[in-house]
Amino acid sequence: MNLVHLLPVGKVDASLLEDLRVSIPRSLHVACEILHTTLDPASVYHAERQQYHSSEILQRMQAQVRPEDWRLLAIADLDLYIPILKYVFGEAQMGGPCAVVSAYRLRQEFYGLDPDAGLLSQRLLKESIHELGHTLDLRHCQDYRCAMASSHAVEWIDLRESTLCTSCQSRVESKSALVRS
Ligand SMILES: [Zn+2]
Ligand SMILES: [Zn+2]
Repeated sequence: MNLVHLLPVGKVDASLLEDLRVSIPRSLHVACEILHTTLDPASVYHAERQQYHSSEILQRMQAQVRPEDWRLLAIADLDLYIPILKYVFGEAQMGGPCAVVSAYRLRQEFYGLDPDAGLLSQRLLKESIHELGHTLDLRHCQDYRCAMASSHAVEWIDLRESTLCTSCQSRVESKSALVRS
């Protein structure tokens, strides 16, 4: 079965990683394991923005991709950005194999609200499925309930399901046939 490896970026809550390890295979037909190595984010920090450049994380990940890796998903708890945007929840290489997501702006506390660990895990799962979808060549979906719907605010993530709509799902199935061949 196709295997997604989770790569922690710096310090990440063990319970967040464990929740993803269990829940990603419920949303996508894949196996999931947590890597014991971590990626040090120090070199992708940009003091002028006090944020971490997500594209540079994807670049650094290339060196860590092994032939047996199907998809490598970096999990961060840092404020990520790309130069043209104020922030991003995550970023992926279209067609794979690498993607990154961050819990940083998915926390209720970030918006001045009370912590909600269950909601945080759900949002991180939805973002993970979304970015993994991009690594499978999926683009944004018009169905707001689909994991591939675009979202520029956390409220939009809450509207999504953690699964793909039937049309995105069938695109992935034809794609994974290609990946396996
Ligand atoms: Zn997207
Ligand atoms: Zn869809």
